[in-house]
Amino acid sequence: MERQEMLRKIPKVDELLTLAEETGRMAAMTDIIPPAAVRDAIRDELEALRGNILAGDLTELPEKKAILDAACTRAYGEQRSSLRRVVNGTGVVLHTNLGRSLLSWQAVSAVEEVARNYSTLEYDVDSGSRGSRHDHIDNLLASVTGAEAAMVVNNNAAAVLLILSAMGKGGEVITSRGELVEIGGSFRIPEIMTQCGCTLREVGTTNKTHLFDYEDAIGPETRALLRVHTSNYRIVGFSERPGLAELVELGRKHDLPVIEDLGSGSLVDLTAFGIHGEPTVQQSVKAGVDVISFSGDKLLGGPQAGLILGKRAYIEKLKRHPLARALRVDKMTIAALRETLYAYQDPAWAKCNIPVLRMLGASGEELRGRAEKLRLALEGFGCAARVVETEGQVGGGSCPTQLLKSWAVAVDPGKLTADQLAEALRRPYPHIIGRISQGQYLLDVRTLTDDDFSAIARRLGEVFW
Ligand SMILES: *Cc1c(COP(=O)(O)O)cnc(C)c1O
Repeated sequence: MERQEMLRKIPKVDELLTLAEETGRMAAMTDIIPPAAVRDAIRDELEALRGNILAGDLTELPEKKAILDAACTRAYGEQRSSLRRVVNGTGVVLHTNLGRSLLSWQAVSAVEEVARNYSTLEYDVDSGSRGSRHDHIDNLLASVTGAEAAMVVNNNAAAVLLILSAMGKGGEVITSRGELVEIGGSFRIPEIMTQCGCTLREVGTTNKTHLFDYEDAIGPETRALLRVHTSNYRIVGFSERPGLAELVELGRKHDLPVIEDLGSGSLVDLTAFGIHGEPTVQQSVKAGVDVISFSGDKLLGGPQAGLILGKRAYIEKLKRHPLARALRVDKMTIAALRETLYAYQDPAWAKCNIPVLRMLGASGEELRGRAEKLRLALEGFGCAARVVETEGQVGGGSCPTQLLKSWAVAVDPGKLTADQLAEALRRPYPHIIGRISQGQYLLDVRTLTDDDFSAIARRLGEVFW
């Protein structure tokens, strides 16, 4: 067909819309796609067609139905969010790029209930009058950690911002040179201090800070002593810093609060899982730290949130600060966090029900068995794989020096290279992310769910068919 003739015969948007109506496609699509977006997709498809004709890429004009098909595919493609499920075969449990912690099913169903319905977010059913959103969580958080009082904000970075703004503004906050953490993004302790209107008073050296270093720096401008957990790095060898209890005693002596940014903040002792050097929140509470903050979606295994614990007078002050309103959490976070914290009333139960803890606690034997199960599933789809021992990580900037002994399947890439295999699995949905180690493509079963197994087997079947 002549180029001009093809251009002339391109159907009109309305013709395709009518065809979509008549064939029932419109009704099927508009359950999830607004009609205006369908119209836009048709217009874009026709524009692309015109471009192809002008470029001389087409010798025949496609049929109207084929053009509509392509427009529908385009509409569905555009409807898909870029925030999608991935299968995490990296063995990194708290993978920050892949969404950190998975929520327990109890937390997910609590989120769904408050998301789909009106709720008692700020309503007291006993009195029939206004209630407080803090009531749903603060007492539970205080009781599971043993703290006097508690509150929750958007994330731990927000918690540190609020605490330093409320407690350090206009004065000096003393911190060890070994603890001037950068946690990624632009969150760096010295810069946060400036942002909060505090003067950072660094003491000690990178590897050694003594109690007298803090004491010598205390003066009339001092507002607080800050301890930061070096969650994503470790200073080892010739190194020293005062114990938390000593720091608290020093604070008491000078009537200064001790603040601690705990980073991950585990509520259970992870040494039973072979993970060392990660302090628990309860240890800090017991040591008498005045204000403690940590993340909701790291080792706690809940939603993104910043949890703050401490002495009642300080927490009350934080709650009254103008930033508190700007940093507050929404009802879905409250719902998910409450279910997560509720599980910790019984740590053994928490270890079974909170996915992060379940993954971290999986035994070598269990992981090996699951790797064998995955290998068999792959074999069923004609894909060769071996079960191999490997090493994963906790992730999320936690336990940086600790590798987790784990088990994986090493997939035989056939005619592909390991990189090509990785790409073939990564790009289509559900996106499967593995790890390449010594030229082998590995899927670590610690971070895979049973649902993931069948998704991987089906996808690999398609790759090698
Ligand atoms: C991760 C981390 C933070 C930030 O926590 P988010 O919840 O990600 O905002 C702050 N301080 C330390 C020491 C951390 O490890």
